[in-house]
Amino acid sequence: EAAKAALDRSEALESIVHGFVTLDGEGAIRSAQRIQKLIDEGTLTGPLAGVPMAVKDNICTKGLLTTCSSKILYNFVPPYSAQAVLNMEKAGAVIIGKTNMDEFAMGSTTETSAYGVTRNPWNMDHVPGGSSGGSCAVVASEEVSYSLGSDTGGSIRQPSSFCGVTGIKPTYGTVSRYGLIAYGSSLDQIGPVAKNVSDCTAILEAVASFDKKDSTSVLRENYDFSSALVDDVKGMKIGIPRDYFGQGLDEDVKAAVMAAASILEQKGAIVEEFDLSLTEYAIPAYYVIASAEASSNLARFDGVKYGYRAPEFEGLHEMYKKSRSQGFGAEVKRRIMLGSFVLSSGYYDAYYLKALRTKALIKEAFDKAFAKYDIILGPVAPSTAPRLGESLTDPIKMYLGDIYTIAVNLAGLPAISLPCGRDKKGLPIGLQLIGDCFKENNIIRAAYSFE
Ligand code: GLN
Repeated sequence: EAAKAALDRSEALESIVHGFVTLDGEGAIRSAQRIQKLIDEGTLTGPLAGVPMAVKDNICTKGLLTTCSSKILYNFVPPYSAQAVLNMEKAGAVIIGKTNMDEFAMGSTTETSAYGVTRNPWNMDHVPGGSSGGSCAVVASEEVSYSLGSDTGGSIRQPSSFCGVTGIKPTYGTVSRYGLIAYGSSLDQIGPVAKNVSDCTAILEAVASFDKKDSTSVLRENYDFSSALVDDVKGMKIGIPRDYFGQGLDEDVKAAVMAAASILEQKGAIVEEFDLSLTEYAIPAYYVIASAEASSNLARFDGVKYGYRAPEFEGLHEMYKKSRSQGFGAEVKRRIMLGSFVLSSGYYDAYYLKALRTKALIKEAFDKAFAKYDIILGPVAPSTAPRLGESLTDPIKMYLGDIYTIAVNLAGLPAISLPCGRDKKGLPIGLQLIGDCFKENNIIRAAYSFE
């Protein structure tokens, strides 16, 4: 019944929201029936058993179209499921479809999708954010209770903030990347998007696991996150980076984030401002590293093994060239060119190596901060959701919008985005809480005090 209700609601709303690339009615009903049997037998219990969900379209689902919102994968049906999907299925999740995203997760608005734009359920003239815009929009519109997204530089947190939902980017290595179609492998993490912190926590517990199929997977001491769901922040040390509140931050966002900080202070947390430093170097370092890794990761899409192949060509090289020229969109091509450039001999030291050094310094700055504070509090994005079409013409402006989210990926840290107010237009504002590596429980505990 839950699966049917989610499918009915999605079918009714999709003509407006368009959060899904693929809805899988038949598959969802089949897996719901199988799960119902297990629940009836008493072999499957737990909070996620039978609950309908959605999965971002860059996470492989066996037998179900997985396009990365790109023309180049228009017909790709994976022969296997991502470990994250297997973990969710084991917990009894019912996948009703695959969600729209920026092509190959490159973008901040979901407008670079080859399959049309997704609309922000709070205001249809605005974007849902990106790249996991579909995953966040379908939770905000209550088509599903929750979804999986991926975050390379903010792609779970920023659209969660724009759509007024909650999303967690876990510590790098916590959720297996096996079956996540790679963008920037050293930065990518899968994570949950849901209505509140408690739901995100249950999903995180289900999806996180050590996986030897992912060479960067980390065996954690424990996978218990729900014990952090206690309403108690007394004595918690919270740092607010002054560098996050300078130029470019909307007044409404600033006011809402500061109001959230004072709520935590009233509840007994020790809140203090400090200088994080190096903030201005995060964007250039990220775009060099992410593009470098993307240019290498995306070399596999050549029209040979799977996906789109140009219908007409002469010889192998022309086949590669035409398939890639026709199959990739403008933003993806921009990143491949930039990535190839910064990795090329003569430029490697000046750009790529320098970016790696900057990444190490940024991690050091966070280490220094976490020697003093349990969590870092700030905005998710400088503004609320822009209007549709506004960001497409100015990629640099779009990249600058990632200022508060990308350093977290460069340093491999966990962070949560949760709603903390509205701007004058009624669009949601997000609060970001950043934790030290493997300290998800600190950010979950602080976030829970708003629930
Ligand atoms: N906006 C960033 C980018 O375009 C982040 C994307 C992401 O986290 N996948 O790279």
